[in-house]
Amino acid sequence: MDESIVSSEIVIGIDLGATNLKGAAVGRDARVIARHTQPLDRTEPGAVIADMVSLVGRLLDAASVERSSLVGVGVGSPGPLSFSTGRIINPTNLPGWKDVPLRDRLHETLQVPIVLDNDGNVAAFGEYWAGAGVDGKDLVMLTLGTGVGAGVVLDGRILHGHFDNAAELGHMIVAVDGLPCPCGQCGCLEQYASAGAVARRVEAAIRGGEPCALSQRVNEGKRIDAEDVAGCARSGDALCLRVWDEACLHLAVACISIQHAFNPARIVLGGGMASAGAFLIDRVLDHVNRQRWKLHDDLPAITVAELGYDAGMIGAAGLVWQQAD
Ligand SMILES: [Zn+2]
Repeated sequence: MDESIVSSEIVIGIDLGATNLKGAAVGRDARVIARHTQPLDRTEPGAVIADMVSLVGRLLDAASVERSSLVGVGVGSPGPLSFSTGRIINPTNLPGWKDVPLRDRLHETLQVPIVLDNDGNVAAFGEYWAGAGVDGKDLVMLTLGTGVGAGVVLDGRILHGHFDNAAELGHMIVAVDGLPCPCGQCGCLEQYASAGAVARRVEAAIRGGEPCALSQRVNEGKRIDAEDVAGCARSGDALCLRVWDEACLHLAVACISIQHAFNPARIVLGGGMASAGAFLIDRVLDHVNRQRWKLHDDLPAITVAELGYDAGMIGAAGLVWQQAD
């Protein structure tokens, strides 16, 4: 094969977030050749689609690649969406979007293959293709951010399920009659182990009068995040330590269920909670080792993500490359 032709081919991966539009020009070898992030100033579907099209042009220019070398565009978007029809249904993060045929609209303009999948799935695929999971074919990722996003890659393919809504692992019930979740269930994983929940639970306990090293900040009306809680827990603060440990316990329970359901080689933890590194992983593993079964030695490796906030756009590009091969 002509090496110069192969190396000039490019895929654009786009991560459509709640506040930003992030894109990267990505080679077949997962190398990021150019990248650009812009604020999502306009959220009306037509305007966002126009911005995505201009982002593609901008990235091709930045990568010094001809338009004819564009193999396709991958897009990761907040769900719910339909992978099979390429339509975005009604994401809470994108007000005004209702049943938008994003894949077809982009295809009409760009005339190249478009792959659309939800943000949890593309992030998992990114870690599988170019990050923590490159050594295996099966990986489950939990993104511990505002909520808990997730994606399941089995034998190198994203699991979508009959209803196109597989891998909603943030709403896996890990506590019977537990904390209520806006989804309508009680005891969902994301009510305990998301970065948002950890901060919220500490704030609520402080307002309830529990002593904490973060009390002053909270009482002054300042926001705290999961990193603050982790830092405070490390220095021995009882409240932060308790909430952090409960997050790790519920994550451990989730990991054991994931082990039994999917039997992946690896579970990757990403998002704001994962920046705590070993302080997260070691505690999760302690709980896993206390709770796990003894019938079979099939525990997945549990590690932190490697691509950070790039996982979505790299994974979206990887999906296009996978389809092209
Ligand atoms: Zn829920």
